[in-house]
Amino acid sequence: MSETGIIDGKAFASTLCGEIARKVGKLKAEKNITPGLAVVLVGNDPASEVYVKNKARQTREAGMNSFEFRLPATIGEAELLAKVQSLNLNPEVHGILVQLPLPKHINESVIINAVDPKKDVDGFHVINAGKLATGQEGFVPCTPLGCLMLLKATLDLPGKHAVIIGRSNIVGKPMAQLLLRENCTVTVAHSKTKDLPAIVKQADIVVAAVGKPEMVKGSWLKQGAVVIDVGINRVNGKLVGDVDFGSCQGIAAAITPVPGGVGPMTIACLLENTLRAATA
Ligand code: NDP
Repeated sequence: MSETGIIDGKAFASTLCGEIARKVGKLKAEKNITPGLAVVLVGNDPASEVYVKNKARQTREAGMNSFEFRLPATIGEAELLAKVQSLNLNPEVHGILVQLPLPKHINESVIINAVDPKKDVDGFHVINAGKLATGQEGFVPCTPLGCLMLLKATLDLPGKHAVIIGRSNIVGKPMAQLLLRENCTVTVAHSKTKDLPAIVKQADIVVAAVGKPEMVKGSWLKQGAVVIDVGINRVNGKLVGDVDFGSCQGIAAAITPVPGGVGPMTIACLLENTLRAATA
């Protein structure tokens, strides 16, 4: 039984944020441009409040401008659209993020697709999703981008079989596109997949983005698989991933912890995308 390495997303993200802060300093000094990120929060979902607070704090720590807009849950779609459009036109705002989920009476895809694709630092706009799918340069969603960085730092990707569990537009699908681009052989599993453990057994790389606490067991893995756990689940006041971390010890070659794995990379990639938007 060989020891399982911990993929330290927190340390990786901290190095990345340091590099971003240095580039922001240079951009200010040489071109007098301060990258600006606008975050729009509708309603007061407690998890979203925490995410928005952390994003704003880290944006400022990187030397960027953070513009926060807290809007009531009762806001109408037209009013929210007008807010997005005003941010599209604001030259101080280089990146726009509308925190999801939105209240039920608002059509999320209408709002997402109202963001100027050049300011769509979340990479959710249909134009950016299309660019990713067709191999063109655009904004890539932050969570799968962060997962890719961690994977690239851990192993050689070409020819590896990656099994992604989950097919959301935010994580699973863009993750599949990114790994295809890196010449992996990609299998995407979902809730209708039959015999998931047998499919996971074939994987050199497992990316779990399901939202089911500790669903993926160590016994499902091939010896030496690399595991990226995207899941964030709160169980009895404690954060756990979609992977049963303990049972992977000695089987996985390396695994991301929860917390301290993918989560910090998501925010670092958001800052990276905002810097790119400001320099485009
Ligand atoms: P979604 O709920 O949008 O998607 C979940 C996916 O998992 C769906 O494709 C679903 O299949 C699939 N699924 C559900 N149950 C099973 C099952 N029993 N077997 C196989 N597949 C299943 O979630 P997200 O992609 O938005 O998020 C996934 C997880 O990642 C969550 O825990 C979320 O909190 C976390 N997350 C973490 C981030 C971070 O920064 N670390 C960022 C974003 C998300 P189907 O399509 O058939 O319904």
